[in-house]
Amino acid sequence: MKLPYERPTLRKLTVGPLSKVGPRASARPVAELEGVPVPELLARFGSPLFVLSERQLRRSYQAVARAFSTRYPQVQLAWSYKTNYLNAVCRVFHQEGAWAEVVSGMELEKALRNGVPGPQILFNGPGKSRADLLRAAEIDAVVHLDNFDELHLLLGVTAGRPQRPRVAIRVNLDAGLYPQWDRFGFNLENGQAWQALGQVAAAAGRLELVGLHCHLGTFIMQPAAYGVAATKLAALALRCQHELRLPVRYLDLGGGFPSANTLKGSFLPGPDAVPDLDEYAAAVSEALLGAGFRPEALPLLVLEAGRALVDEAGYLLGTVLATKRLPDGRRATVLDFGVNLLFTSYWYDHHISPVGNFSEQTEPTVLYGPLCMNIDVVRESIVLPLLAAGDQVVVHRVGAYNLSQWQQFITLRPNVVLLDLQGQAHVIREAETLEYVQQLERVPGHLSTEHNG
Ligand SMILES: *Cc1c(COP(=O)(O)O)cnc(C)c1O
Repeated sequence: MKLPYERPTLRKLTVGPLSKVGPRASARPVAELEGVPVPELLARFGSPLFVLSERQLRRSYQAVARAFSTRYPQVQLAWSYKTNYLNAVCRVFHQEGAWAEVVSGMELEKALRNGVPGPQILFNGPGKSRADLLRAAEIDAVVHLDNFDELHLLLGVTAGRPQRPRVAIRVNLDAGLYPQWDRFGFNLENGQAWQALGQVAAAAGRLELVGLHCHLGTFIMQPAAYGVAATKLAALALRCQHELRLPVRYLDLGGGFPSANTLKGSFLPGPDAVPDLDEYAAAVSEALLGAGFRPEALPLLVLEAGRALVDEAGYLLGTVLATKRLPDGRRATVLDFGVNLLFTSYWYDHHISPVGNFSEQTEPTVLYGPLCMNIDVVRESIVLPLLAAGDQVVVHRVGAYNLSQWQQFITLRPNVVLLDLQGQAHVIREAETLEYVQQLERVPGHLSTEHNG
C-alpha cells in the first residue's frame, strides 16, 4: 500500500518538567460502534449523525443502581428529563425501572405520555406555573417546593378541590462545595428550610409531606459532599418526625454525578480524574445508615442521576469539510457539526477519534464547526493525525444535555439513531426540514406578495 504524502513540519519543543502522567496514548481509529461500521451509518443516515447505544444506556443505569442498592436497602432512580428527553431514551430508563424527574410542565406531560404514573413523577424547578401545579395535583405527582410563593400558590390552586397534593421540600445546604448552589429551594443553615417545613406542617390537612430533596450541582467531583448532604438531610428528616410529627418517606439526593468526560482546564483526562460511582454510593449510604433511623423505618433513597446515565451512550459522527492553515501557523480543520449540536463543547474537551486509519504523524489542530460564527469552536487544540476533507470522525460521550440543549441555528438538526441490543439502527428523531422549521411562522398579508422588484 502506498502511504499518502504528508508535508514535513517543524515543531517547537518546549523544555519543562516531565509530565507526571507521561505521554498521552496516541489516538486510535474508531471504525465501528457496537459492531456497526461508522461509514455505513453515515452513508445511511447522513452526516452529521447522533448515535445512542441502548446497550450502554442500560449498562450505565444498572451500574448506578447497583452501586447504591448493594449498599442501601431501598433505592429508586428518577430519570432527569432535561438531560436527554428523547422519548426512546426515557423509555429505556423507564423500562429499567426509573421514575421521572421533571422541571417543567412540558417535561411532566412528556413523562405522562411515556407511560410514567403520576405518583412516580417528581416535579422540580423554580418555574412552575399555576396551571403546572394544578396538573401536578391532578395526576398526584410530587411537587418539590422551591420557594414560599410556590407553596402558597399550590395551596391556592388546590383550595376547595379534593386533591391533597404530595410535596417535598427542596433544600440547599453547605456541603463544602464552592460555589454553593443556593438559588434553588430553601436554605438549611439560615433556618428557611425549617420554616418551610413548619408551614407544610401547619397546612397538613391540605398537603402531604413525603420527602426532602437536595441537588448539589452538576459534575461534582467530591463524593464526600454527598455524605455531608445526606447527613444533613437525614438530621432534618428526624427532626421533622420528632418535632412536627411529619414522617419523611424519602430522601432525594438529586443528581450531579460526573461522566468520564474531560472538563476544560483539567490536568488529567476525564477517565483518570473522575471518582468512581462506588465512592458516591458509599458516602451516601454510610451517612444514611448511621443517621439514627430505626432499621425498619429507613427512608427510601431517591437519586436523580442525569449525566452519569446517558453521557457515555451518546456519539456524534461527522465529516471533515476542509482543512486550512491559520496565519500563526496552526492547523485548522472545519467539521460539519459545531456548537449548535455540541453544546457541551463549551465545558468539555471532547474525546474525538478519526474513523479511518492514519499515519503516526500528528499535529495540534483547532477544530471548527460549520457555522459562520467566531464562537463555533469544537476543540481549541487537539492532537490529531492529519485529517483531510471527507475523513470521518467520532465524538465520544455526548449523550447528556446536547440533545436537549442543541440549537436550531443557521442549519437543520440531523438524524438521531438508537442502536438496539442487536445492533439494529432505529431513527428516534428525524432530521429537520425547512418545512418543520417554518411550520410555526406566519407571514402577514401585506408581506405575502412574492417580490415586487
Ligand atoms: C439537572 C438536574 C438533575 C440531573 O443532574 P445531572 O448533573 O445531569 O446528574 C437532577 N435533579 C435536578 C433537580 C436537576 O435540576
